[in-house]
Amino acid sequence: MSKVFIFGIDGASPKLIFEEWLDELPTIKKLTEKGLYAKLNSTIPPSTITAWNSMMSGKDSSELGIFSFTYKDKDGQTKLVDSNNIRCDRVWDILSQQNKKSIVLHVPLTYPVKPVNGIMVSGFLALGLDNQSVYPLEIKEKIEQLGNPDFFFDVAVGLGRHKALEIDELLKRVYEMTKMQLSLAKDLLISKEWDFFMTMLIGTDRLQHMIWRHFDKSHRRFIENSPHKNALKNYYIYLDKELAKIIKLLPPDTTTIVVSDHGMIKQEGKINLNNWLMEKGYLVLTDEAQEKIKQGKTRFKFEFVDMEKTKVYGAGAYNARVFLNKQNLGEELASFRQKLIQDLKEIPDDQGNPLDTKVYKKEDIYKKPENPECPDLTVYFDDLRWASNPDLGQEGLYSWESAVGADSAGHARQGIFIIAGDKIKNKGKINDIDIRQVTPTILRIMEVKKPEDIDIQPIKVD
Ligand SMILES: [Zn+2]
Repeated sequence: MSKVFIFGIDGASPKLIFEEWLDELPTIKKLTEKGLYAKLNSTIPPSTITAWNSMMSGKDSSELGIFSFTYKDKDGQTKLVDSNNIRCDRVWDILSQQNKKSIVLHVPLTYPVKPVNGIMVSGFLALGLDNQSVYPLEIKEKIEQLGNPDFFFDVAVGLGRHKALEIDELLKRVYEMTKMQLSLAKDLLISKEWDFFMTMLIGTDRLQHMIWRHFDKSHRRFIENSPHKNALKNYYIYLDKELAKIIKLLPPDTTTIVVSDHGMIKQEGKINLNNWLMEKGYLVLTDEAQEKIKQGKTRFKFEFVDMEKTKVYGAGAYNARVFLNKQNLGEELASFRQKLIQDLKEIPDDQGNPLDTKVYKKEDIYKKPENPECPDLTVYFDDLRWASNPDLGQEGLYSWESAVGADSAGHARQGIFIIAGDKIKNKGKINDIDIRQVTPTILRIMEVKKPEDIDIQPIKVD
């Protein structure tokens, strides 16, 4: 049996890591030369919260019941997801049942924490350092000694609030957070027993969303000679150096995995989906919502939809989640949906150019399309180069900022996967893998039987 250590880098993109920057990331380069590596096909949608949990369970978004940070509860209200929304076992649950010890740091949707055979520290959706964000409780003291606990889980408290930070402040906080997170990882790696160890770093995601146009010359809102043009690469170099220190601490029989949940892609702009639906007469807001948007931009909430008068409504930043109101559509449902797909694909960019928009029907992509959280349609405007902006109170069809701030990159379909260790064959670059294959691969390396309800096969690593 081999121990498994996972270094999760949120949103690390294959193009930057495998092609452009590999020579400047010697630790990661060494792992690719020793073991094998691949592009990783993320979940639909490639949302952080969905993707990490699919990776850690072997299940698709519909089996997880997770599509985004928010969902519509049975009373029609918008709620934030938490660990109680997860519908299946994750790797550490399976390992706990087999008496294997896990240490899991910062994976999203681990708040409130559930008991595990080992240690669990929540991810960026934690509401703070409290009794629900760490297990067992003694770990709280260790975290308090590391620095400012307000920035331990994320750079700003509140969903998406990092988008409102100035770049200097964002960078300062990203480093402060990462240092604390890595200090905890290094401490626990050597002071506690474990068979499976995973740490996930969100700093890359926070930087990438905000800093893309400072270095990508092809970005339509590129900032020339920005003082931050090398900030993202330098942060990766810092992570690579830290990874080298961590690898030195690992027991010799450990298999190391470096992985991301999705990639990143420059964002041309945002399409105000709900404005478009309202203009077509498909979406009607409640009186309360109409009053609210008179005061300015506001985040979309499911309770703002007048369900008596609405045929379709949308949610979701980056990708769009489109929901059909079956009660109002009746027999028109199938033909309406077909027409809607066509119309969505025909939305042009702000200069009238056609977009390469993809629209997925739930029954074509999910195993459990009957789950109520399942969007009827998932839309990638221009294959994710354009984002969806469901916020209300926006002017017209296009925007460059959401209700919480502006970003210049969004999530892309593919992330990275690298694996190396004594049991892993040196195969170099292999064909693209499916994100769900990571769980059965971990189980196989650890010689733990794969539960029957995971039907995806492990990656061939030996
Ligand atoms: Zn992510």
